[in-house]
Amino acid sequence: MADTKQHAEDRAQRVKGMTALVTGAGSGIGRAAALRLAREGARVCLVDLKEEHAADVREEIERAGGEAFVAEADISHGSEVEEAVRRTVDRWGRLDIVFANAGINGKVAPIEHLTEEEWNHTLSTNLNGTFLTVKYAVPHLKERGGSIIITSSINGNRYFKSFGFSAYSTSKAGQVAFMKMAALELAQYKIRVNAICPGAIQTNIDDSTFKSPELDEIVIPVEYPKGQQPLEQGPGSPEQVAELVTFLASPDASHITGTSVYIDGAESLL
Ligand code: NAD
Repeated sequence: MADTKQHAEDRAQRVKGMTALVTGAGSGIGRAAALRLAREGARVCLVDLKEEHAADVREEIERAGGEAFVAEADISHGSEVEEAVRRTVDRWGRLDIVFANAGINGKVAPIEHLTEEEWNHTLSTNLNGTFLTVKYAVPHLKERGGSIIITSSINGNRYFKSFGFSAYSTSKAGQVAFMKMAALELAQYKIRVNAICPGAIQTNIDDSTFKSPELDEIVIPVEYPKGQQPLEQGPGSPEQVAELVTFLASPDASHITGTSVYIDGAESLL
């Protein structure tokens, strides 16, 4: 019993003294991960498009005695990401954990109706944004090693039946290939790089989903008799994903790199 309590206390401080940068920290998975990392002792730079998206996350962290600040940045713009990283290191002198998480569903449409701009917007946010976040973090992570976690998806990796999501799924598949290249390249610096592949998680992602009326032309109706998530009969919560992110960020995952972890209640196996 005493051992269990001690273990729980140790776990509660798995990332104590570390500095984390979380993109898309104002909502959903990023928000839950930022709160969790802070609760376990990390100082967190909250990156989001607008200060007001993440101001309440900062306040919640500070109320609980933690440290955080919001860096406004569009992750598809390298100079803005670079500035967010610079501000983090200027403030706290180090960077240990990078959660490259911000992303959008973007335009959901048949390929022939998807415009070049719509395709580019999804790819430049989800894939280029991941590259830029990692690129500008690496020089600082190299100083003492660290952990990069990339939010991919079951879409584009194990699951190809979200009709109209061709741009999204391509970006999510690309993130996993990039993660593996980065894991190998950065291993010599003791930087671990992993991806998480969530299934449906209850967040605000629908706000960045724009379905085209032409979708009916390509959808093949698929119906499951008893829900789409066999484990819990419903979507996961951002907090469940945050637990995985914190594990991957922590020394508990010290030998795990180059891996995708599915967190979907077996949804993608159905
Ligand atoms: P969300 O919409 O709740 O949160 C996304 C956050 O990212 C928002 O705060 C938004 O302002 C921010 N953001 C969007 N574009 C940005 C940009 N260009 N620069 C900076 N910040 C930006 O969505 P979520 O579900 O928490 O999504 C987080 C990640 O999880 C995404 O990469 C998404 O693809 C992935 N994902 C989500 C689900 C799901 O079911 N919710 C499933 C699989 C993967």
